[in-house]
Amino acid sequence: MSDCIFCKIANKEIPATIVYEDQDMIAFNDLEPQAPVHVLLIPKKHIESMDDIKDSDKELIGHIMCKVKEIASKLELENGYRLVGNCGEDGYQTVMHLHFHLLGKRKMTWPPG
Ligand code: 5GP
Ligand code: ZN
Repeated sequence: MSDCIFCKIANKEIPATIVYEDQDMIAFNDLEPQAPVHVLLIPKKHIESMDDIKDSDKELIGHIMCKVKEIASKLELENGYRLVGNCGEDGYQTVMHLHFHLLGKRKMTWPPG
C-alpha cells in the first residue's frame, strides 16, 4: 500500500534498524521504544490488522509466530519477553499494518495499560 509507513519500511523507502528479514517478513526497532528491546514484527504483505487476517494468510502468520523465538534468541531475551498485538481503536492500534511488538530486557507488569 503506497501510503503505509510499514510498507515503506518493508520496501526500504524509509529507514529502520532491521534486526531480522526474510522474503515474507521483517523485524525492526520501534521508533519510540517502550522497553530496552522493542522490535516490531510485520508481514511484508500489507494486512491492515488482526481483523483482516484471512484463512489464506495462515502460513504467513504461522511463519511469523515460528520466527519469534529465533528473533528473541538473537536479541538475547533469554529471561523472557512479551509479544503484543494491538487491534483497532480499543486495542490502541496506531499503524494500520499488522504488527506484533516484541518487548524485552525489563520486567513487564500485568494488566497492561
Ligand atoms: P501500535 O500502536 O499500532 O500497536 O504500534 C505502532 C508502533 O509503531 C508504535 O510503537 C510506534 O512507536 C511505531 N512506529 C510508528 N511509526 C514508526 C516509524 O516510522 N518507524 C518505526 N521504526 N516505528 C514506528
Ligand atoms: Zn502496509
